[in-house]
Amino acid sequence: MVAEFNETSISVIEDIYFQQKSHYQSVGKTKASERIQKLKKFQGVILRYRKELQDAMWEDYRKPAAEVDLTEIYPVISEIKFALKHLKKWMKPKRVARPLTMVGSSSWIRYEPKGMSLIIAPWNYPMQLLFAPLVSAIAAGNTVMLKPSEFTSHTVVVMKRIIAEAFEEKEIAVIEGGVEVSTTLLTMKFSHIFFTGAPEIGKIVMAAASKHLSSVTLELGGKSPTIIDETADVKAIVPRIAWGKFINAGQICIAPDYVMVHESKKEAFVQSMIAQIIKHYGEDAINSPDYLRVISTKHFSRLKVYLENTLEQGGEVAYGGRMNEAENYIEPTLVIDPPLDSDVMKHEIFGPILPIISYKDKEDVIELINAKEKPLALYVYSRSKKNIKYFIENTTAGGTCINMSNVHVGNPNLPFGGVNNSGIGKSRGHYGFLEFTNERSVLHQKLPSAVQFMTPPYNEFKQKLIDLTIKYF
Ligand code: NAD
Repeated sequence: MVAEFNETSISVIEDIYFQQKSHYQSVGKTKASERIQKLKKFQGVILRYRKELQDAMWEDYRKPAAEVDLTEIYPVISEIKFALKHLKKWMKPKRVARPLTMVGSSSWIRYEPKGMSLIIAPWNYPMQLLFAPLVSAIAAGNTVMLKPSEFTSHTVVVMKRIIAEAFEEKEIAVIEGGVEVSTTLLTMKFSHIFFTGAPEIGKIVMAAASKHLSSVTLELGGKSPTIIDETADVKAIVPRIAWGKFINAGQICIAPDYVMVHESKKEAFVQSMIAQIIKHYGEDAINSPDYLRVISTKHFSRLKVYLENTLEQGGEVAYGGRMNEAENYIEPTLVIDPPLDSDVMKHEIFGPILPIISYKDKEDVIELINAKEKPLALYVYSRSKKNIKYFIENTTAGGTCINMSNVHVGNPNLPFGGVNNSGIGKSRGHYGFLEFTNERSVLHQKLPSAVQFMTPPYNEFKQKLIDLTIKYF
């Protein structure tokens, strides 16, 4: 029988919490070889559930099997493989140099797990955004309570089975539920909370974490701009932008949220985008098996209102705009020159609507971007080295691709994350491991310390030594 999504009761949550509390220290003492075994087992179980994951995500929001493979299973498997390859090195204590004044001592960094951790995930990549940080937490030697999003209930049921098959509850457990359950978890004392979701909820998480002074990683969102300058090769770049925007029906934290295109390229860009959308999803995307639905009625209504208001406020639809409320369907939609204070330019869109704004002077691009919160991602499409340098040096963002969209998240050698409103802390690969790790400083004094020559009572000789230290060391 297929299991159903059931909110985890408070008593079960407390039971799991106390099991993990009495177990986290022994998990923390595990060697690299033991953690590697756990990760290998996890990988095996995920791959066994590939079909169930594909079916569940189709049920949840019609995610095509190919995208489950490419954007959910593959990123987690590659995160595991990367950790398997590097874990021994990551865990190894690292010797560091010491200043001359500390002669007679040696220093190193010891990588200790933070301990009990909580991972709260959103619905847009329900498995990737729950399991990728989990890989880091396991690699670092933590126990973990996992709170996936209630909006992808079919996927949650499968993920719960995967976790139950791969781990004991006293080490890793899935907690089912929505805001109330999340709120309950946030009253508990964790050493680290890894949250992925909206900036507004990130503030709630950070406030809750402050009660216990838990450390946090906040992977948040916001408006990620795409800049297309006068030198860009429109034909070459449009497939990359259309893919980056409309995959997952635009429900991606790093999707191009809006485009700023040089006025000389605007017409060619819009026409190419229309042709590309039709190439990907046909004349009527509602019939395409490769085009997703918006996750819920709540998000469908939010997007509908944004679009309606923007059209009233002066924006113009160049393509798309059709909707089907019964299915939470919104066609890939291009909106030209919406007013800067319209809904689609004020709020993170997180859906298949792309505002396109034309510009003449590149200074205007900088002004518009820097007037908003710091973005999670910023994309520059250009063939001019000078322009690329200008756009990067005059803005900030969690991450940037030049002449590409979204894919920086896939390089495990790069830190992934935002800056301030778009996030705090970094994840993936070694950066993810460090997020769940306490880098403990250790200094071993082997010979008498120079400090001993400068202890009270002070006299003229000791003052001379202090003066020399300030001057020369
Ligand atoms: P959300 O913040 O509404 O929900 C995320 C999680 O928080 C869910 O598990 C939910 O149950 C829980 N939650 C919601 N409200 C809560 C509250 N008041 N108190 C405690 N917990 C609460 O986000 P979402 O709608 O699932 O996802 C969309 C947002 O996530 C967008 O802003 C997007 O940019 C962001 N996002 C960021 C990344 C990233 O890696 N930076 C990735 C995906 C999504």
